[in-house]
Amino acid sequence: MYEIPVFTSDTYNNTSYVRSGYLPFNPLLNKSLVSFQTIELYHHLFMRCPRLGIQPFVRALCDLQGVRFKNNLSVQISAAYDLYIRLVEGVRLKVRQALGRDSSNWRMLNNCPCCQYEVVGELELAIRMLLGIDGNNSLKRFQRREPPSEDGKSLGPEKEREDNRIGGGDYFLQPEAVDLWDESQWHKWPGWTPKERSPKIPCEDRWSNLKESNTNRTFGHFDVNGIFGGFCRHSFTIVFLDMIRTGEHSKYMLALLNHFMSASREDRQRLGLPKNPSGSLGVGYDIACGMTAKIIRSPLNDLAQKERLSMMIGLLHGYAHNRLCQLSFLLLYIQGAGIEDLEVCERYFAQSNALAPVTQYMGRFRRRQAIANYAYHRDNMESYHNLSRFIVSNYKQALGILSRSRNTACTLRAVGLLDVKNAAVWLDEEKAYLESHQDIPEEDTTKSSYYLALGKLWECQDELRRARSTFRMESGPPSELNIDHANQLVLTERQMVNKQEMEAKLLLDVQSLEERLGLRRDQRWKRDSEAWNSARELVQTAKYRKAADKLEGLTVARIFELSKMNVAGTGYKMRQHIGDAMKKCSKAILSALEEYNACAASLKPPRKLLDWDDILNYTYLSEFNFLRESRADILDKPWAKPAVREAMSELFKLIRAGEEINRLHVEIKRLLTYMKEEEEYFATVVRRHRDNDEPLAYQIWLHGRERSRFNEVHRTRLKSIQKLKGFTVSNSHFFQPGIGARRQTVDGTEVVDAEAEGQNPNNENSDESETEDEEDERTEAILTIANDPV
Ligand SMILES: [Zn+2]
Ligand SMILES: [Zn+2]
Repeated sequence: MYEIPVFTSDTYNNTSYVRSGYLPFNPLLNKSLVSFQTIELYHHLFMRCPRLGIQPFVRALCDLQGVRFKNNLSVQISAAYDLYIRLVEGVRLKVRQALGRDSSNWRMLNNCPCCQYEVVGELELAIRMLLGIDGNNSLKRFQRREPPSEDGKSLGPEKEREDNRIGGGDYFLQPEAVDLWDESQWHKWPGWTPKERSPKIPCEDRWSNLKESNTNRTFGHFDVNGIFGGFCRHSFTIVFLDMIRTGEHSKYMLALLNHFMSASREDRQRLGLPKNPSGSLGVGYDIACGMTAKIIRSPLNDLAQKERLSMMIGLLHGYAHNRLCQLSFLLLYIQGAGIEDLEVCERYFAQSNALAPVTQYMGRFRRRQAIANYAYHRDNMESYHNLSRFIVSNYKQALGILSRSRNTACTLRAVGLLDVKNAAVWLDEEKAYLESHQDIPEEDTTKSSYYLALGKLWECQDELRRARSTFRMESGPPSELNIDHANQLVLTERQMVNKQEMEAKLLLDVQSLEERLGLRRDQRWKRDSEAWNSARELVQTAKYRKAADKLEGLTVARIFELSKMNVAGTGYKMRQHIGDAMKKCSKAILSALEEYNACAASLKPPRKLLDWDDILNYTYLSEFNFLRESRADILDKPWAKPAVREAMSELFKLIRAGEEINRLHVEIKRLLTYMKEEEEYFATVVRRHRDNDEPLAYQIWLHGRERSRFNEVHRTRLKSIQKLKGFTVSNSHFFQPGIGARRQTVDGTEVVDAEAEGQNPNNENSDESETEDEEDERTEAILTIANDPV
């Protein structure tokens, strides 16, 4: 902070302060100022370390300058920071206008070079872009209110200063656009007709955000309960939505997808590209199973079909879903998914959560502004910086998996899986089987109930018989009774009456079940009769299934705890807490495991017993449906044999790795083209403005440098791929820049090459990478998480 120097010539003092490199604290009278460099330093520190609020920064400044900290200094610096952000945003807008990039959706549609900068004649991908979407509860906002009502039941009225500014720019979708997607508003969409609700989703009990009653609830003092966001697989932001007074409601997902898909569609139309895209849009969401049904019923269905929306479940979350869901949504089985895990939201939020302590108490405008600034910084300084690292690391992982192809081929031969097509057919068979065996037949349930009711009735009758004989033995002539004996007799009589009442009740149960089973009185089952024995087996199987359910539930819970533990940014205390929870959970798993094994052994024939290692390897979760399956016919199916299942899994990993290499080739070419054309474009625009508006030319140059500073490291890293063991030399042509289908010219319009569509000069396919010479040295990357014995 500096004492005000005397400035002249400008009409307003503040203009002359800013011109001289200082920021004022208020519009009128300023006794001191702060330099741009100081505020810029704070801005960059805040972006890199969002936990850093203004106050500790101002305290540090006071320490440096040897003055005492006063609260009003924080208020002043905060006002100057607001002004700084306004100026930066104003400059950024001017630069965007000069670049012809100021339309409202430009950023969203052009943010990621690898996903969005199409190159003329590139390889067509089955999935054109992979996104992850999810809600996050950390970035909530506390609303200032008057004290609650006297009875304490309702919150006091809002007491915040009115602020009409919205904030967040093109990083946020407005609440009005979101509310249109609430189910109660669907009828307002033209052409939409109500469809029947889908039956209960098998995973509903497992995922709290699949239950509407959970997502509808509000959260007291918080008017914004968090954000819902979408990111491409390289962590570039698509858009954020504020979750206002609800949990992770389905309207956020629908609004986000509608916003992105309709903007992409309009953009293609504007550029004269074909109306319908060639590849699908893969969207990973942890509850994709339930949400797919919702999308089909909603007004979004039409657009989703045209844009070829395909919902998927991220790798880690996928294993916690029911096997039927896995067969439809697990990335391992989706054609074109590559080795992507689509857990990008978890990674993004793990870092952005650091914003929460600072933004929680901000006003609406300031909070959104801070989140948008953070996202801008993250997109350009981190996600862009990490792009080539991402590509190199995935390339290595995919080569590593492909290098095992010879071993996998041996395994496949050993289990008789000679034709790759069979694997897909077997998956379909498994799905059809599970679909047709979802519910236990009603007759089996009635038989089990009858078996249990009969058992209880007989037990009760035995006890009654015993009570009667005791009563007869104990009751003698009244004259011989002493008081104690008389009391005992009354007690025995009461027990006998109770048992009699119980018997009558149980008899009624038994009779009603006999009616349902169509049995006459004389056909009542006898102990050890054939019907009795088969019903006993049914009951034992049910008990066994229950034990398997419990074990599976605990294992799923353990995965979630583990995933929280591994997230960067989880504090020490939280980790301790999770560690304790894990220990308790492990004990519970051990006892559930014992119970499960006891039940499994009692079945005829006995089921496979599990050990601790099976539980630790959580890919085993996908086997639970089979464990529960009691019908003998399943054992004859080729796809139900453990060795075959394992071999199929290996095969799918191999296929996905081949796809990943293809996708990476496309991404590499896009990135190289993007860097070259952006550098040229910026240089031209800067040249154009240098003579008539030098400051603007400088700002455009600075804007270009935001990303171009990383270009050299990208080129070096991408080059290193060609030296990897297992790299196929004939793929080298992907490492040359092509011609961008969206490249811009100096007059600000994008050039579209009609040849961009439909051409596929590269007839490379994954098989070429699977050469015989590939060695088994690379890291085993795909599903490292999945295969990790923890
Ligand atoms: Zn599911
Ligand atoms: Zn991307």
